Amino acid sequence: MDLGIRGRRAIVCAASKGLGRGCADALAEAGVDLVINARGAEALEAAAAELRAAHGVEVIAVPGDITNELDRAKVIGAAPNADILVNNAGGPPPGIWSDWSREDFIKALDANMLTPIAMMQALLPGMCERGWGRVVNITSQSVKSPIPALGLSNSARAGLTGFVAGTSRQVAPMGVIINNLLPGIHDTDRATSLDTGVSKAEGLTIEDARAKREATIPARRYGTPHEFGAACAFLCSELSGFIVGQNILIDGGAFNATF
Ligand code: NAP
Repeated sequence: MDLGIRGRRAIVCAASKGLGRGCADALAEAGVDLVINARGAEALEAAAAELRAAHGVEVIAVPGDITNELDRAKVIGAAPNADILVNNAGGPPPGIWSDWSREDFIKALDANMLTPIAMMQALLPGMCERGWGRVVNITSQSVKSPIPALGLSNSARAGLTGFVAGTSRQVAPMGVIINNLLPGIHDTDRATSLDTGVSKAEGLTIEDARAKREATIPARRYGTPHEFGAACAFLCSELSGFIVGQNILIDGGAFNATF
């Protein structure tokens, strides 16, 4: 399928590994030039080199913490007229509701709500002026179905979801399309770290912790960054213009609901 976005430019945040990397791969495969970002410069440069070699697109690597205003400005400065924006950052740590301080909440809100909003505020005006744009926010299944240990994530991502619900309908008339992708469990470092937490808490091996989680998913496995990236590239494509402000679960059927 021709996604119709060859030659467009995308910013993909938090993209040296995991789901962000999956999105960068799929966009590069569709012929999109990229600005990619992550904190660790070495892994980021390695990802950029692999993307260039595999897909022949231009890839600019901008190291930095996307939740930090100055680093964010560098990322935006590398492609101020980006046509496509994929918002992503690491998720907040697990814990228990009674322990979180105001500072913990501010940090989570900064990373998983205010950072993607700031990225949109910077890039949406240009997209609207040019009459075309695509934004995908990587959020979480926790938006639909709270994960008890991830209350910081549940809270911050709910705020972002509210912002997108209204804003997506305000910019759609200008040809700018915003949607959220809600990952269930995917095979990334984040999943390994969550499984490590479960294995320690429940006295299981990591393999048993993973098998226990897989058994709760109708697809009986974790998702892959490759599959996730393909869905992201479709939402960033020419063909997604009638999908506005949606929250699309990619979770192997884990969320048990009729619709
Ligand atoms: P991951 O495998 O840990 O990858 C995270 C990527 O983001 C790495 O490239 C990392 O590089 C970069 N990164 C993290 N924090 C960053 C920051 N502040 N600034 C710039 N880059 C940053 O994570 P993932 O599994 O792909 O998850 C991506 C998002 O989806 C997270 O918010 C996560 O909570 C959410 N999610 C994941 C799952 C899952 O099963 N994997 C499920 C639901 C939701 P550096 O460390 O070098 O910066």
